Amino acid sequence: MDNPAPPHPPDTRHRLRLAGALELSPSIEKHPVTIHERYGHFINGELVPGQGDESFATVNPATGATLAQVAAAGQADVDAAVAAARKAHDEVWSKLSGLERGKYLFRIARRLQERSREFSVLETIDNGKPIRETRDVDLPLAAAHFFYYAGWADKLSYATRGAPPRSLGVAAQVIPWNFPMLMLAWKIAPALATGNTVVLKPAETTPLSAMLFAELLQEVELPPGVVNIVNGAGATGNLVVSHPGVNKVAFTGSTEVGRAIMRTIAGAGKRATMELGGKGANIIYADAALDQAVEGCVDGIFFNQGHVCCAGSRLLLEESIAEDFIARLKRRVETLRVGDPLDKNTDVGAINSQGQLRTIERYLEIGREEGATVWQGGACEPPGSGYFVRPTILTGVQQSDTVVREEIFGPVLACLTFRTPDEAIAKANDSEYGLACGVWSEKTSKVFRTAHALNCGVVWANGYNLFDPSSPFGGVRHSGFGREGGIAGLWPYLEA
Ligand code: NAD
Ligand code: MG
Repeated sequence: MDNPAPPHPPDTRHRLRLAGALELSPSIEKHPVTIHERYGHFINGELVPGQGDESFATVNPATGATLAQVAAAGQADVDAAVAAARKAHDEVWSKLSGLERGKYLFRIARRLQERSREFSVLETIDNGKPIRETRDVDLPLAAAHFFYYAGWADKLSYATRGAPPRSLGVAAQVIPWNFPMLMLAWKIAPALATGNTVVLKPAETTPLSAMLFAELLQEVELPPGVVNIVNGAGATGNLVVSHPGVNKVAFTGSTEVGRAIMRTIAGAGKRATMELGGKGANIIYADAALDQAVEGCVDGIFFNQGHVCCAGSRLLLEESIAEDFIARLKRRVETLRVGDPLDKNTDVGAINSQGQLRTIERYLEIGREEGATVWQGGACEPPGSGYFVRPTILTGVQQSDTVVREEIFGPVLACLTFRTPDEAIAKANDSEYGLACGVWSEKTSKVFRTAHALNCGVVWANGYNLFDPSSPFGGVRHSGFGREGGIAGLWPYLEA
């Protein structure tokens, strides 16, 4: 325990054994990642093949090529994972001092930093997001989250206002595919800091980074059973959250699935947090620094192909600047490079799955039918194979249009206008969601007045999609409840 050095340095000499992924980027061969042909689960400290016969493929969305076959966990696997988590909670993890738990979290954080290149490449291949983002955003933020909650592990009485901090037990954690490693960190770090143990289910299109993380947990000698990872789709997720041995459910995903989970666990005495969908409004006042606001719009909706729950997918422009602003925005979007996610110059990578590509295309069709003008930009033609959508701007839309009301979860921005701050606020709040919004103005009083009136969990002022482990994140209304990050991120995992 006292020696923080990982016992088994990883063998990074392996090369990617994968023909399909070479189509887009010959340079991929240089990347030091191993992709196994088959993956199972991580239960009680062991990488195990799984007890059933069912499996599914995870693909590289930039090519459509299959990367690996992954076992789908059934009841027996989930039973084993929950039993391991229970035993680890009762016998080991909840009995360790916060200081000792914190040491493990610091080790995880450090090892993530050391292996971050490997994680970034693997995440980019399995997810489709640009390497620039995995390298500069996802992995640094995931490590930062573990560092942050490592620091809390021995200071929990500050979170419980002096009451003895008590863990809940076993946490079932189900995460989406848009930020696989970051969502894993948001879930696991606070659970472990507070003395809970975990059964995590990654999304079925992006299981690979979580399985590499399992190897990392072996390296840092986390006690067996403290973190268990079971793979599978919604059916496995349902087994995990509904398991009677689970004390707490933490879910990030769509509002629809969140509702289903709430119905499933109703009356079961489980604590729950839900991070669900969004339709964020990015409000630009005429007195904003317009070039910065253009950058903020690009970050708000084209970052991660718009697969961002808090994306600024509705642009609300003060009428007097609307025409000029959209012209500037289009000029900027024309410089965005859409293409090979492993190319460090790529701005917009691949859509995560064929299913999501179809969803986005269907929304664009609905938009056209409802009278929207669909404009698509980008500095280059997207590659012929794989799943790609050019950055898209919709104008001529109404507040009542489907593309303004529903979450598209793609690189599609719907532009509306307003005349007064009250109208901007009313339009922003006219949504079933309430996750995040942005406000742009050089006038601080206007920023504060607007921010206070917005009915959502997060408001960015003169910025968008900015994240920090110390800031609580979460929604209101159909965007969910509970907070992740900051001191508030500890409360859902503590009894007191
Ligand atoms: P999804 O809801 O389809 O799936 C999310 C996860 O839930 C996956 O792991 C999936 O396998 C699992 N799942 C599916 N059905 C289940 C069930 N019945 N019981 C238990 N688990 C089940 O969402 P997605 O398509 O993976 O992700 C996109 C959605 O997630 C978007 O709507 C987005 O807004 C939302 N999201 C929200 C946040 C947030 O913090 N609020 C973050 C990321 C994504
Ligand atoms: Mg994949």
